[in-house]
Amino acid sequence: MDFTTTIIDWYLQNKRDLPWRRTRDPYLIWVSEIILQQTRVEQGLPYFINITRAYPDIRSLAGAEEQELLKLWQGLGYYSRARNMLAASRVIMDRYHGVFPGDYASIKALKGIGDYTAAAIASIAFNLPCPVVDGNVLRLFSRFFGIERPVDTAPGKKEIRDLALALIDPDRPGDFNQAVMEFGATLCVPSNPGCAGCCLRSGCLAYKTGRVHLLPKKSIKPVIRDRTLHYMVMTYREGNEPGLFVKQRDGNDIWRNLFDFPQYPEDSGSADAGPLPLKKLTRWFAPHHPEFHGVTGPVKHKLTHQNLSVWFYHFHFSVKPRLPYQAVTFSDLKFFPVPRLIDRYLRDLFIFAPDFLNFEMDDGPARSNKINPPLH
Ligand code: SF4
Repeated sequence: MDFTTTIIDWYLQNKRDLPWRRTRDPYLIWVSEIILQQTRVEQGLPYFINITRAYPDIRSLAGAEEQELLKLWQGLGYYSRARNMLAASRVIMDRYHGVFPGDYASIKALKGIGDYTAAAIASIAFNLPCPVVDGNVLRLFSRFFGIERPVDTAPGKKEIRDLALALIDPDRPGDFNQAVMEFGATLCVPSNPGCAGCCLRSGCLAYKTGRVHLLPKKSIKPVIRDRTLHYMVMTYREGNEPGLFVKQRDGNDIWRNLFDFPQYPEDSGSADAGPLPLKKLTRWFAPHHPEFHGVTGPVKHKLTHQNLSVWFYHFHFSVKPRLPYQAVTFSDLKFFPVPRLIDRYLRDLFIFAPDFLNFEMDDGPARSNKINPPLH
């Protein structure tokens, strides 16, 4: 069996029709590859459309405000991708006069672009024979060639990269790379791969030796940390405008520059031990005395290396206080980029607890199936 011809033929017949496959514009291919680094195609597609509509070329992206771009990126996670893309677009403007560099080394030198993304852009936009090696390709090659070496080690990756380099079609490197990525993403998937209808089955060593479910091998199990966050949702009303307090994250973490709520304490570690006693929170607010409207939680949220348990405590100030946080009216909230956890929470709050947000009603505790009674 000729692996290269078979998989390219399969790709040409089965590829999904996606906007970045109808172009060889390196800018559009770059944006799509950055979005797809940690994101499934179905989820990434509307983001690609919105971002390239707002910033159709390198110049417009380079002139963007970071907050605007983060807002468009909201919900995709791994926000450093957006920040790096912005930084790289400005380098392309300054160093390359707005023209995307056309060689592998210069592409890879741009911020946020590693081996994989550089190879994808070089092969698809510039027809260079640079093989891509991502998780999908590692899985497909490891199974097809029956590779026992763990794919998360340098020798394991090198073995697969060498194979890909030997197999890539020099006349159609972009098609070859997209074929192996698409095959791994849609057919040779981690669980229940489509071996029954697979065009590579007759040559697949894992299939022939009954090792499909055993490959690829990995040496390291990721360490997942349990963490609890206590968010203070502090609302106020000023004239006719209700609002709340948010805080821009300044630490060097994945949510850097996004907005969330003030936390008690600033960073609460360890596994969930339940909601905090009201007495503690009252002390934290002194000398202010907001009304306590209840607590929501624990809301479970998974990040790559953390399982979060999150409690939201609802407080209302009848007079807007001076606090070291940013006051935002409800109507302006949509302009602030927030992590997906906070976005979901706010949507739930607006849907399930409109009373909590509508202070015309009364000053009593919110009546909602989402908000628990106050703590004592
Ligand atoms: S036969 Fe199964 S394991 Fe082998 S390449 Fe095809 S889908 Fe993957």
